[in-house]
Amino acid sequence: MALSPSETSDLLRQLEHRPNKKLGQNFLIDGNLVEKSISMASLPTNYPVLEIGPGLGTLTSHLLNLGHPVYAVEIDRRLEAHLRERLSSFIESGQFNLVRADAVKQPIGNLPDDIAEYAVVANLPYAISSAWMEGLLGSGKLPTSMVMMLQKEATERMLASPGTKAYNALAIFLQAAYQQTGYHPVPGQCFYPAPAVASALLKMEKKTTPYLFAKETRSLIRRIFTQRRKQIGSLLKKEEQKIQQIMTSWLEENNICSTTRPEKISVDQWIELGKQFPSTN
Ligand code: SAM
Repeated sequence: MALSPSETSDLLRQLEHRPNKKLGQNFLIDGNLVEKSISMASLPTNYPVLEIGPGLGTLTSHLLNLGHPVYAVEIDRRLEAHLRERLSSFIESGQFNLVRADAVKQPIGNLPDDIAEYAVVANLPYAISSAWMEGLLGSGKLPTSMVMMLQKEATERMLASPGTKAYNALAIFLQAAYQQTGYHPVPGQCFYPAPAVASALLKMEKKTTPYLFAKETRSLIRRIFTQRRKQIGSLLKKEEQKIQQIMTSWLEENNICSTTRPEKISVDQWIELGKQFPSTN
């Protein structure tokens, strides 16, 4: 079970730890939500899990007790020490692997190379959710599924469709490889302290044929989206000769008019652009 608000605050006091706002330390205090995250993930037996920001270990201990090997990345030194103590038996048995690191720099933590399939289950630190996701997609080692607690606004950005205000480069990279298969709104009182923003649990599953953009194309699309309301035909002229040529033939082959704005171009059309570039990450 998750700790209640008073048990969580008692534990934090005992650890002499004040929740750090900058690190998005809003701890889960609702047992139903822990269960919900795990049932949404619907993991096969003993399936490896990557958890970003295990915090006090609420979700972590549930996953471990169910038998899943857990690879976790936690940036906070004091929480790391607490986790090492609380979950020492799982560390000793090798079922729990914890690394103290910035998940933006180490998006898959210490996940061993020989683990080909794994899932993400995490109550993410909201400030880094987009940067971590970009890092994860850039790592080339894609989880089969992800159940993530996110700021509601972040879920809207990740799921955004072309032509909407929220459509952005990350939505394109993510939707090229994943599809949404679950969504559950979460009220603030499920956390201690309660965040000022609305939250939601989002499940994404890897597509049968996921498309991963190469590094060069990701940078290009990100660059283009900084001027999302300009016409694609004028934006491409700012690029070097080789990219201009590629983009010009891409527009022709996909019947995209040069006056189209980047925010109107579909994920599939961006994928077609990606395919014109060498597939190096
Ligand atoms: N999983 C716990 C729970 O559900 O109660 C805590 C979730 S809390 C929203 C986010 C956690 O991510 C905190 O433990 C915080 O210290 C950690 N964190 C924040 N920024 C991080 C980063 N850049 N890399 C790794 N962990 C980070």
